[in-house]
Amino acid sequence: MNYRHAFHAGNFGDVVKHAVLALLVERLKEKPAAFRVIDTHAGAGIYDLTRGAAERTEEWRLGIGKLWGTALPAPLRDALAPYLDAVAALNPGDRLKRYPGSPAIVRHLLRRQDRLTAVELHPEDARTLAATFAGDVQVRVVTLDGWLALGSFVPPKERRGLVLIDPPYETKDEFGHAAEGFLRAHHRWPTGTYALWYPVKNLTAVKRMRDALAASGVKRLVRAELTVRHRDAKSDDGATFNGAGLVLCNAPWRFAATLRTLLAGLVPLLAQESGATYQIDEIAGE
Ligand code: SAM
Repeated sequence: MNYRHAFHAGNFGDVVKHAVLALLVERLKEKPAAFRVIDTHAGAGIYDLTRGAAERTEEWRLGIGKLWGTALPAPLRDALAPYLDAVAALNPGDRLKRYPGSPAIVRHLLRRQDRLTAVELHPEDARTLAATFAGDVQVRVVTLDGWLALGSFVPPKERRGLVLIDPPYETKDEFGHAAEGFLRAHHRWPTGTYALWYPVKNLTAVKRMRDALAASGVKRLVRAELTVRHRDAKSDDGATFNGAGLVLCNAPWRFAATLRTLLAGLVPLLAQESGATYQIDEIAGE
């Protein structure tokens, strides 16, 4: 386990993932019944952008750094509101110093009746995460393999909620793992909402995962992707981080329209070269 999210916190991949995550949580809040979010690869929770890993790479400057303090057009501002609210909650001044990872964003948005299960395997990040949420009765932090957690914690007792699957994609077969993990969880809990994040670095791996999901028989699957340069720029070197995508399952009613507003608005802000674009399409319908 070499991957540490601190090096990447707040980068454009996080912006896409966290903005969509926040919108999904907001939609769950439209009904009064309690829900649970299960974050299978939760990371350290809160990241200091002014020191250490994040300060060394400064990846955040091409992500949240492009949005923070920027005047945004109305439709994009609305779509980003729940996400930027969570970022602002950690940064009371004008300067962006801290960045919330997925569990911190979810926690910020929960109502009193809702719960979060955050799973992280890296001992140090799991300790940091547990310390952040110590004494918080709405959050359960578990040091466990996220793939095992998918088997044990799904479906949650609330029977409403969202599973975020966000592995580090360190190993060659991680796309396969992600698809299999999702399919296993979906088999146990077909009505849950799922968001599976992936990087666009190797188009063959992305296509293989998409094909496996399309052939699985699972319905209501949508893919949303944003690329910061041509999608296939240096496509199969597996190293160039061209874009970020999410596979969503059981997304709420008319969520594709919200996604379109969000991604169309983000493209000009996050573009790093010409050819930046977004795509939203159905992998499997009703
Ligand atoms: N979800 C976080 C966020 O958006 O803020 C970022 C997660 S990062 C992309 C992936 C995390 O998965 C890392 O913190 C890594 O330590 C952790 N990890 C790696 N293998 C794991 C496993 N088998 N089970 C659970 N966590 C794992």
